[in-house]
Parts: sequence; structure tokens; C-alpha cells
Amino acid sequence: MAAFLFRSRYTRLDIYPLGGAMGNRSGRCHLKVYGALLLGMMLLASPRPLLANEAPLTPVSLQLLWYHQFQYAGYYAAKAQGYFQEAGLDVEIRDGGYHSPGRAVDPVREVVTGRADFGVSRSDLLLHRARGEPVMVVANIMQRSPLVFLTLERFGFSRLEEVGDRPISVTLPGVDERISAETLATFLAAGVDLESLNNAAPSWNLQDLYAGRTQLVPAYSTDGLYAVRRHGEVPVIIQPADYGIDFYGDLLFTRQALVEQHPERVAAFREAVVKGWAYAFKNIQETVDLILETYPGRHGDIDRALLLHEAEQVRELMQPALIEIGYSNTERWKSIGDQYQAMGMIDGYKLEGFLFQPAPPTLATLLLTLWRWLLPFMGVVIVVAGLAGYLLLTNRRLKAEIQRRREAEAALQQLADRDGLTGAGNRRLFEQQLQQEFLRSRRSRHALSIILIDVDNFKRINDECGHLVGDMVLKEIVSVTRTALRTQDHLSRYGGEEFVILLPETGLQQARRVAERILEANRAHRVNTDAGPIRYTLSLGLSHLQVNDRDPWQIVQRADASLYSAKRLGRDRLCIDVAPSMPQTD
Ligand code: GH3
Ligand code: MG
Ligand code: MG
Repeated sequence: MAAFLFRSRYTRLDIYPLGGAMGNRSGRCHLKVYGALLLGMMLLASPRPLLANEAPLTPVSLQLLWYHQFQYAGYYAAKAQGYFQEAGLDVEIRDGGYHSPGRAVDPVREVVTGRADFGVSRSDLLLHRARGEPVMVVANIMQRSPLVFLTLERFGFSRLEEVGDRPISVTLPGVDERISAETLATFLAAGVDLESLNNAAPSWNLQDLYAGRTQLVPAYSTDGLYAVRRHGEVPVIIQPADYGIDFYGDLLFTRQALVEQHPERVAAFREAVVKGWAYAFKNIQETVDLILETYPGRHGDIDRALLLHEAEQVRELMQPALIEIGYSNTERWKSIGDQYQAMGMIDGYKLEGFLFQPAPPTLATLLLTLWRWLLPFMGVVIVVAGLAGYLLLTNRRLKAEIQRRREAEAALQQLADRDGLTGAGNRRLFEQQLQQEFLRSRRSRHALSIILIDVDNFKRINDECGHLVGDMVLKEIVSVTRTALRTQDHLSRYGGEEFVILLPETGLQQARRVAERILEANRAHRVNTDAGPIRYTLSLGLSHLQVNDRDPWQIVQRADASLYSAKRLGRDRLCIDVAPSMPQTD
């Protein structure tokens, strides 16, 4: 019933809605890089729900040793919190106990015969193992045993040695189907003659104790004392520990075949149980509510106060803060086995294969773990790297674009500054340079010279040879003149067949040498045309910056006047304006 209620409460759709939503969205996110990256990240970040959604849950049953109580809180919590489900398991939790005195549900038999997959037992399990039953410890839940023997103060005894022929009911061989290795060991350790005992099968009903039908019963320290006190009686407990018996309490076990065939299932079950116990201790109130609502107790006599009390007692026996939940100590099992042997309960035993060790992770499990834990993180890394890459690419493109524009601007500037025919600077550039050099010379008191050039009788070249040859001559004048210039000199086309040369930091004498080189070079040059080589001459006017110049055009005017003089004096010559100059560098 409880299991049924639980099963109907959780559907896989409720728990993993993400997987369904993702499928519908995948088609849309394919164009944008961001969208694809984001989708990738989401897919990677949620492998667990997607994987779990694909495989149906494996049905698994757990046979408890006793009726529902806090004693099994970890199992209920593992189920309620979905830990079993996350492990791919659909777990049915069956309560245990007695149908009638001596006739109990035996978890060992249930598990060995395959009617249940897991069971709860105690240290008796080693006895079963030594007798050839293929059982294996999956997790030691209670590090100490809760088993005690309970009597009442009014019966007047407090040790097993004092039992004599009083009516008692404890789980000793001959009266009970179940084995209680702990009981047998304790009675043997007490030196009690088992044959002489007046023992009957325990009824597990405290009324028999109160009525005096039995004077000693087995009980769990976690709840038995509390129940007796609540009844108004004064309990006396006899503990196995008083006789040196210190066995494990409740443990989780399974059959060997299950471990061999599905070790991953056993490991997953164990992991979920351990998580369940941790949750139960962190949320005791909530877990008590869960038990009251979903797991009805034996006689309906389980109430909130009893469960809260039991929770604290179970915590004492488990010591979850000190000992890892489920921890099995091989040495302790060895000492238990040795005690069994010393008391003649078994002939011999082997611990090999008795304690389940979750298999060391295979490559596949490691990859799955990586997938589960690393990939969501890697998804983020991929997105960040994607963004970074995108920014880097954009940045590179931007830089290339900026470079391209710079070059285009430079080319445009070149076009704007240059004369299209000859490649010399144009009039605009000359005017800019003239202004700059004038100011600079004024500031630093450097000399500045200008040479104006006019081609002699150029009209005639045009007329006789044609305009194209005229153009060719203009081009060659520029290249020939350049050979006579220094790197700092600026040659520009002043207009028509006139050129101007700006000579920064150059005094009259030095400029004169440059001008003469120009004259000579051009005079010696021949322009090859279809009609044969032609020659030409130039007239040059040279002037320089003077102290009183307030305007750069004053220098140009004087150069122009000198040029006019050169023409007037017969062309093919240099005329110099020799007015007083600025202090000169040469
Ligand atoms: P002068 O010695 O007195 O300077 O005689 P000139 O023939 O050179 O006379 P002027 O300077 O007045 O004539 C300049 C001629 O240059 C006029 C024009 O047709 C020609 N010209 C101006 N620009 C160009 C050009 O780009 N290409 C060609 N082929 N001819 C040009
Ligand atoms: Mg002219
Ligand atoms: Mg001319």
C-alpha cells in the first residue's frame, strides 16, 4: 500500500520536464552562433535528466527486518527524495516482523530465494554466510547494535546468570526460525546452560512482559525502554556489551548473484541509501512526518514522540558525524567471526566476498562522471570561449577594416595632394607646405628658399609635336628635376607648365646650387618621341625668405619676378632675387 502510494506520487514527467522542452526547441536554434552555443551548453548541462529519462526504472525490493519505524528512516528518505529514482531504481520497501511467535519474515530467506533484492539484517549475516548462504553485506548502517534484553525491576534480577528457570522469551535456537547470533553469543558468553532455560519464542508483545508471562524479552534500545517507561513500569536492561559482545546493528545486504550480475545496481542502491540516511538526520521532523503519513507501524502504536525519541537513539548507534554512513570494518567483522568460532557457533568462516566493495570506477563510469559534473562547467567554458573567439574575430576584422580605411584615406590624400599628370605635388599641397615652412622658418629662424620654373616656349612643343608629347615632356621634366633635388625639397606643379620647389632650411647659396643642377639636368635631357628626340630648356626664378616678410606669398612674388627677369634676359637661365635675407644656415 505504502509502496503503491509512493509510486503514484512520482511520475517521471513531473521530475524531468526539461528533456521534453529541449526537444521542441532544438530546431529553432541553429542560425545564431550564440543560440547554438547556448543550446549546446544546456544539452551538456543536463545529461542526467536526459539519460534517466531514456531508460525505464528497474524495479527493486527491500525487505526490512521489522515494522516501519525510524530504524529505517534512510530508506524512506531515499525514496521520498528521489535518490533511488535518480539511480534508475523503483524501490518497493516491505516491512518485516512476526506473523506469530517464532514465525517471522526472514529477510535472509527472502533475499536468497530472490523474492527480495535487498534486505536488512544484523551481524547474524556472517553466520548465514559461514553456513553457505550466498549473502553479502552492502552497507553497515548501525555501527552499534540496538539489541538489549529487557526485564522489569519488579522481577528482581539484572544479569543473565540470574535467569535460572524463570520464564523468558529470547531468540535462541530451537524456539525461533530466525537466528540471533548476538543473543546466542551473549548467553554463551554469560556461561548460561541453554538446555536448562525455560525459554519460549518471543511474542514481541510487551503485554506478555507486563503480565509476567515472560520475565525477559529482546528489545531494541531505540524504542523498547521508552515504551516500557511510558507504560509506567521501571525497565531493567541487560546488554550484550556487558558480556563483551559488541556486534554490528542493522545492516543492508543482498545476494551474491545480484552483485555479480548487476554490481552497478548494488552500488547505486547503496549510494542512494547513504544519501537517504544523511537526509533523514538533517531533516528529522520531516522524516518523522513521512513515516507517520506513509509507513504505518505495527499496532498503530507508533507516534510522533516515540519516533523522535527513536531518531536520537538511532543517531547514537550510527554516529553519522563520526563514521561514514555504511562503513564496514573488516577487522571488526573478523573479531565477530572469531567470537562465533570460539563459541562453536560455526566451524570456520571466510570474509572474502562477504563485504561488498563498490567496483573501482571503469573508464565508462569515469567518463559518465565527467559527463555529469564536468560538462556543465565545460558548457560554460565553451560559451565563454565562443564569445571570446567571436570578439577576437570581430576585433581582427575591425583592425583590418581600420587598416584598409587608413590606406584608402592615404591613397585619397595622395590623390588630393598630387598632380594627376606628373605625380608632383599639386598647387594645394604647395600652398599648405608654403604656409607650414614659412611659420617654421620664422619660429626657428631658419632660411627658406623657393625656385619657380617655367618651361621655355612650351607652346611651340605643343604646336609642333602635339599635346600628348607636351604632356610627356611635362612628366619627364618632373622626373629629371627630381634627380637634382634633395630629400627635404618639395616639388609641385604650380600650374600649366610651371613648377615650384620649396627648399626648407636652405639659404640662397645652397638653393642656387640646386637650381643650377636643375637647369643643367633638363638642358641635357632628351625626350624621345615618335618624331625623334626633342630637347627643351627651363627658366628659373629663385628667391628666399627675408627679414621683413610677413606673408609667405611675398617670397613667391619675388621668385616670380626673378623668373620674369630670366625670360626677359633670353630664357634658359636662373635669376636670383638678392634682397637682404634672414640669417642663413649656409
Ligand atoms: P614662354 O617661354 O614665354 O613661357 O613661352 P611659352 O610657350 O611656354 O608660353 P606660355 O607659358 O604662355 O604658354 C604655356 C602653354 O603651356 C600654354 C598651354 O597650352 C600649355 N599647357 C599648359 N598646361 C598644359 C598641359 O597640361 N599639357 C600640355 N600639353 N600643354 C599645356
Ligand atoms: Mg608659362
Ligand atoms: Mg612657358
